Amino acid sequence: MERLKGLKCRECGRHYPSSPIHVCEFCFGPLEVDYDYEAIASQISRAKIEAGPPSIWRYAPLLPLNIPEGETPVGQAVGFTPMLRARNLAEELGVKELWVKNDSVCHPTWSFKDRVVAVAIGKAKEFGFDTVACASTGNLANSVAAHSAEARLKSYIFIPADLERGKVITTLIYAPTLVAVEGTYDEVNRLCAEVGDKYRWAFVNINIRPYYAEGSKTYGYEIAEQLGWRAPAHVVVPCAGGSLITKIAKAFNEFRLLKLIPEGETKMYAAQALGCGPIVTMIKKDTDVLVPVRPNTIAKSLAIGNPADGYYAYRAAKDSGGYGEHAEDEEIIEGMQLLARTEGIFTETAGGVTVAATKKLIDSGRIPRNEPIVICITGNGLKTPDVFYDRLSVDVTIRPSLQVFDQALADLKSKAAG
Ligand SMILES: [Zn+2]
Repeated sequence: MERLKGLKCRECGRHYPSSPIHVCEFCFGPLEVDYDYEAIASQISRAKIEAGPPSIWRYAPLLPLNIPEGETPVGQAVGFTPMLRARNLAEELGVKELWVKNDSVCHPTWSFKDRVVAVAIGKAKEFGFDTVACASTGNLANSVAAHSAEARLKSYIFIPADLERGKVITTLIYAPTLVAVEGTYDEVNRLCAEVGDKYRWAFVNINIRPYYAEGSKTYGYEIAEQLGWRAPAHVVVPCAGGSLITKIAKAFNEFRLLKLIPEGETKMYAAQALGCGPIVTMIKKDTDVLVPVRPNTIAKSLAIGNPADGYYAYRAAKDSGGYGEHAEDEEIIEGMQLLARTEGIFTETAGGVTVAATKKLIDSGRIPRNEPIVICITGNGLKTPDVFYDRLSVDVTIRPSLQVFDQALADLKSKAAG
């Protein structure tokens, strides 16, 4: 039985064959992959998943790729990242059960984008493209560059010219063609839509978007599997384009439909920076009208002022009974430091947004203190240490002498006591 039925419009429900398109030609609604869950049910079980590889490919029947028997997909080691019981952070935040889903160590490029890109580039290969491309705020650039190298495809990567130096270098190392555009992400994305119309390239987050977005589901599958085949009561998700929060909700719903986890509800919470938080603004104002903003935040990886899935992200939070919260730049920094000093995890600014928003949601009573909470850490701080250059410094510099050290230690202790 065929697992994949093709594409379906999220608005009017019209069906399309599987091809590199992303918009409904009747109502301009976004297209998504349409599955035959009866066919999938006969191919999937907890035991089969657990016997699969320690990567996103353990969920292959729920992904939109046709992987021939014996072949290894692009992105061999992507996913199955740690799910950590964060006891120290839970204590600081005053909650009973807190988990960190840690995609800051996703392979190969240390962010959850490796999940979406592995699926997108696999699909681009199936469609026969020889060139892939993307518009990126940084992590996607890293991942498209790495995976297209592995897949032996040419790549063109478009970024805002003011991106952090770390993200630029960690893209260039894979030898793509990197195009820096003087403008915001939203302007880069608009240019890419025009480039995509003109050249026959697979833009992973434009014409390949329906397949790309499906890769995000694996993040939700892993949360449920790693919690012992149950979905948590509350999940806090950083939002940029807004796709991830919708796909985590979809992952839990699919697992429930396939009876891999029990029935139940998971409340979804959106986390955004105050300097670029149009989705959270929708949630707080309880309106389904998205007002685009011009980003002004240190959380550059989330700096999408006109998020493609903004409306659906709003719905995911709203329909689940969840909420959303903004974090100011200073709170983002504190969030990063809190996670690092309690759990030993160095996340990028997006993680700081998530931690800060979680703290506010708990303090305000939106998230109860006695129910299981998962926070989504989606990128690694080692890519963007820049924000700390002016804030952190060596405690003391000494000559290599025990006597000098003894004195320095005494000074440090009296300073700490004073
Ligand atoms: Zn439609």
